[in-house]
Amino acid sequence: MSILKVARIAHPVLRSPAKPVPKEAFRDRLFQKLIDDMRQTMYEYEGVGLAAPQVHEGLRLAVIEVPAKDEHPESEVPFMVLVNPVVTPLGDERENGWEGCLSIPDLRGLVPRLKRLKLDALDREGKPYSLEASDFFARVVQHECDHLDGDVYVDRMEDMRTLTFIKEFEDHLHRDEE
Ligand SMILES: [Zn+2]
Repeated sequence: MSILKVARIAHPVLRSPAKPVPKEAFRDRLFQKLIDDMRQTMYEYEGVGLAAPQVHEGLRLAVIEVPAKDEHPESEVPFMVLVNPVVTPLGDERENGWEGCLSIPDLRGLVPRLKRLKLDALDREGKPYSLEASDFFARVVQHECDHLDGDVYVDRMEDMRTLTFIKEFEDHLHRDEE
């Protein structure tokens, strides 16, 4: 497995809509290796999700894992692969929450997201699955799926004044919540 180079904001691959993964890809050894490498890269940089455009691959593919040791232990999610994902809102309730992105290093911002959604996608073998996600899990799904459309979280921020460096977040904002 390899740790991949993460594209940073302003690289065109992050602003281009990604292409659907074709059926024949699932049996391609390189496609399976890409998934393993994305998993390894997500662990290396302690992300809870990574989309293929972030590693310079314009494909509708993302990986997610929210470990129990994350700051959102109530939303623990085992490793999962999202191929050609489709998000359907469940209700119109939205919630503000903090997000960061490996492609926009060291920053965080407050982003409104759907609280509940339905996700339809294919797994790494090409098998369709469907699930409901809420709260932080739903947030991560929306964040990763945005990457597949060339969007990043700052595009969705309603108040740019909440943009903060992670260090200052820990010093001034995180503590207020405790
Ligand atoms: Zn991101």
